[in-house]
Amino acid sequence: MKQSLTFIPTLRETPADADVQSHKALLRAGFIRQNASGVYSYLPLAKRVLTKIEQIIREEMEAINSIELLMPTLQPAELWQESGRWDAYGPELMRLKDRHERDFALGPTHEEVITTLVRDEIKSYKKLPLTLYQIQTKFRDEKRPRFGLLRGREFIMKDAYSFHASRESLDATYEDMYRAYSNIFTRLGLNFRAVIADAGSIGGKGTHEFMVLSKIGEDTIAYSDSSDYAANIEMAEVIVDYQASNAAQKELEKVATPDVKTIDDVSNFLSVDAANCIKSLVFNVDGELVVVLARGDHEINDIKLKNVLGASSVELAEEADIKNLLNCSPGSIGPVKLPVEVKVIADHAIKSIRNGVAGANEDGFHYINVNPERDFAINSYEDIRFIQEGDPSPDGNGTIKFAEGIEVGHIFKLGTTYSAKLNAVFLDEQGKAQPFIMGCYGIGVSRILAAVAEQFQDDNGFVWPKQLAPYDVHLVPVNLKDEAQNQLADELYSVLKSYRYDVLFDDRAERPGVKFADADLMGLPIRITIGKKASEGIVEVKVRETGETFEWAKEEVVDRLS
Ligand code: ATP
Ligand code: MG
Ligand code: MG
Ligand code: MG
Repeated sequence: MKQSLTFIPTLRETPADADVQSHKALLRAGFIRQNASGVYSYLPLAKRVLTKIEQIIREEMEAINSIELLMPTLQPAELWQESGRWDAYGPELMRLKDRHERDFALGPTHEEVITTLVRDEIKSYKKLPLTLYQIQTKFRDEKRPRFGLLRGREFIMKDAYSFHASRESLDATYEDMYRAYSNIFTRLGLNFRAVIADAGSIGGKGTHEFMVLSKIGEDTIAYSDSSDYAANIEMAEVIVDYQASNAAQKELEKVATPDVKTIDDVSNFLSVDAANCIKSLVFNVDGELVVVLARGDHEINDIKLKNVLGASSVELAEEADIKNLLNCSPGSIGPVKLPVEVKVIADHAIKSIRNGVAGANEDGFHYINVNPERDFAINSYEDIRFIQEGDPSPDGNGTIKFAEGIEVGHIFKLGTTYSAKLNAVFLDEQGKAQPFIMGCYGIGVSRILAAVAEQFQDDNGFVWPKQLAPYDVHLVPVNLKDEAQNQLADELYSVLKSYRYDVLFDDRAERPGVKFADADLMGLPIRITIGKKASEGIVEVKVRETGETFEWAKEEVVDRLS
């Protein structure tokens, strides 16, 4: 491509409003421009890198028989009401009305659309498993859009969804996805780590996040210094110090955490184990612990039990979230997703339990007949301690260390959460209707662009690796008015193109200083400078990554590049 014909608006100055290296460099080298907070145009260079990222993703998806489709961004509110997420998703969901005053959302994710799509078309177990994916623009009205493409309000995601007749089949696809994701991030050249992000933490198989290790990461990973244990502290590591009186605890009766599939299951459990005064319950919904908190004078029987099964959930990301939760208006409740290790939930909830049920201070178990004053010394959220560096690793091996990470991928066993709510069923071998067992698998495509931009640069600008570079070769004649340079540049341009190199040919009538400054910012893997020695047929070749330079005769170029 001739540089005079493309659109690469580089900047001489470092943009003041960009706070991390990747964002600065993407702006300076003319890759992106902001349109509104968290909303960007991807200019031609960025588009080329995105295409390469997407190509790697597509190849790895197809390799595990995940099939591409494209679903609408515009989604009717009814779908979201059916799943319970119209209310539960909160302000991150971008909502709008059409001319008939009908409500719509701009998709932040596609469980509702795909579940109903498959519900209406797939009726038999014989058509399962089925895995579908798309690469598409998503919308989330993030509270704090920042770091350029890292946390946008409009961004590109690869999202896949799988449908199964059995748990075993879901497990198999999940394993495939795990491997495909590892391949993708390896091929991208990213320094990444898969971390457990879920419930059954140690050896937990319910959900993993793929984290690029980076100082600017917004997530913190807790990992063991002497085993494979690695987890996102957001989900896995809210550890509560139970200064419980052990003697008293022995009097407590341990019962299995109930499996909740239907509202009746909840009611049954309540009528067996709970009096009116219980204010905290933990349920096992499809392998995920859901904690229901009630506070104030609220009676559990009043709790909208549907919430237990609804998607309504508050993610406890930091201590402040727990505070917020507790400070919510008296009587308000909400199911809160917490990991299995979470020993006890929150102070108000605990305090208000009288001879009730508290969970789960052991995987899969509750204690009944709990008396919080007697049995637990948790009086306030200050007693709730987050895991710290130097703590023993939860898997018993080694000590915990922290690292910052950027979440670039997330794989998740959904189970029947959506299919049950959206009444998506198939007929099993016995002819019985069963809800689809599902998984979902996301990758932040535009976030990866920011993550690679962060990783692949040095003090002089980008250092694109071959598999991601917008072009393979930057061909830079110093002075096109010089006939020898002009001719050699044209010749090499055609030869390289004929050998299938992607060449950016700086044919602009700019001063050499400008050309070199732009070339530095762009950071293509190979720069071929055509200067004074053009008349002898000699060019200067610079390898961006190592900084090595060579003088090659024009006839050698193709052979030596390969
Ligand atoms: P985060 O914790 O960073 O908010 P998430 O857990 O909400 O991300 P998921 O719902 O798991 O995100 O979405 C799948 C992937 O989409 C994420 O792993 C991430 O790579 C990407 N992603 C999510 N939110 C954004 C965003 N606002 N901008 C860019 N990419 C995003
Ligand atoms: Mg998010
Ligand atoms: Mg996350
Ligand atoms: Mg996630």
